Amino acid sequence: MSTLYDVVVVGAGPAGSAAAITAARGGSKVALIERGIYPGAKSVYGGVMYLKVLDRIVPTWREEIPFERWITKRHTMVLDGSTSVTVSYHDDGWGRHPYNGVTCLRSNFDSWFASKAQLEGVDLITATTVVDVKFHSGSNPSVMGVTLSNSDQTVGCRSVVLAEGALSPLADRLGLSSPSKNHHLTLGVKEVLKLDPSTIDERFGVPHDQGVDIEILGGLSPLVGGGFLYTNRDTVSVGVIISLESLKHHQVRAEYALEQIKHHPSIEPFIKDSMQVEYLAHLIPEGGWRDRGTLMKQGVYVTGEAASSTLALGIWLEGINYAIEMGAIAGEHATRYSEGKYGDEASRQYEDDIKRSFVGKNLKKLRFAPEVVLSNPIQRTLPILLNKTASSIFTVTDPLPKSGLIKTLYRAIKEANVAVVPTIKALLKTFWSFK
Ligand SMILES: Cc1cc2nc3c(=O)[nH]c(=O)nc-3n(C[C@H](O)[C@H](O)[C@H](O)COP(=O)(O)OP(=O)(O)OC[C@H]3O[C@@H](n4cnc5c(N)ncnc54)[C@H](O)[C@@H]3O)c2cc1C
Repeated sequence: MSTLYDVVVVGAGPAGSAAAITAARGGSKVALIERGIYPGAKSVYGGVMYLKVLDRIVPTWREEIPFERWITKRHTMVLDGSTSVTVSYHDDGWGRHPYNGVTCLRSNFDSWFASKAQLEGVDLITATTVVDVKFHSGSNPSVMGVTLSNSDQTVGCRSVVLAEGALSPLADRLGLSSPSKNHHLTLGVKEVLKLDPSTIDERFGVPHDQGVDIEILGGLSPLVGGGFLYTNRDTVSVGVIISLESLKHHQVRAEYALEQIKHHPSIEPFIKDSMQVEYLAHLIPEGGWRDRGTLMKQGVYVTGEAASSTLALGIWLEGINYAIEMGAIAGEHATRYSEGKYGDEASRQYEDDIKRSFVGKNLKKLRFAPEVVLSNPIQRTLPILLNKTASSIFTVTDPLPKSGLIKTLYRAIKEANVAVVPTIKALLKTFWSFK
């Protein structure tokens, strides 16, 4: 056995670094192990972070993070055919303290965050994969250590935090993952496109340090999912997030869906004449609260996206903030566990603290929303209805008289070939899921 740690954290993503920081501050000797050659080397996400959650862990984050642009405009764009309806919100105040969303590149952010853990005395070990967790034998086995892909030795520890992200093979192997998690996977495919910073400012209507977040619904037919377009300093990120089941069912490749979105007349003008600099793909477990699985067993804490922490609901795509908060809580608990401060109640205490945090409260409140967002009425009917209604309202019909709102809606419903009763039921279910 090599060095003995109190806590080993698997994965230096947002959840892992947060866990390492709070565990070290609790007095633990901590190893943070990352399979990439540096933290962020293997990370994929859309591009916008909501970092107020860092106030309690790294209060100086606003002055320190390697940011691209502070988000001051949020649009939700509903696409249909070659048309779109957009709801826009602009808040110049989001460009100043305390800010709201920010675009950051993961390779920069994850490295910065892990360096904060190192400043707390955490040993960061990169370019090696944790392949197993070993337990002491006996009737109530506890953690003995972890084994690595590039060493025969076991790294000894008293507690392990699994912050290994979406696929979570270790959590699966230890029987901690929810059996239904793999039924709620979506695939995110994203391109990073280079553009001159002044072209981005001009096209998106923002000054150089401010940016835009566009969430996209519809426009992917026959697939089920959504899309996004975000501004960085001298690149934009455009991507789609598609249900794996619909990809399989329609035998369509994800790249096709991304091309469909990129060539939509409402998206293309933002990205034309750009040069592709990156192409990335990653899975997202979208089951949320109902797929969190077993959060703790025998000194092993599951956290972040390995516990299905991402909130992916069309109008919101938030995962980094949820992973950080959940990781920070896991680190605190792992420290107490390694000090022998917990008995049988350890698992319940961790679950209770997660439930009391904004992560548990939001994920629980919105637990039925993921399936509603991916349902037929939201994916197909809503985009058609909204676009047809907008077209009827804004298209001037002279010399014919204007239709009233009821007639316009009735015509849109008829043209869209929508079954009224199921649609009303679906809309009520949507309101109830987001209540
Ligand atoms: C296409 C896409 C778009 C997204 N857009 C957004 C967005 O705009 N905003 C947002 O907030 N969230 C977004 N998310 C979600 C966000 O990426 C996740 O919520 C977040 O990354 C979860 O953090 P994590 O630390 O739990 O896991 P991860 O970020 O996945 O980190 C896990 C880390 O563990 C390492 N690792 C895994 N296994 C091992 C092992 N066995 N040994 C050693 N290291 C290991 C990995 O290399 C990785 O560094 C998006 C996700 C995708 C896929």
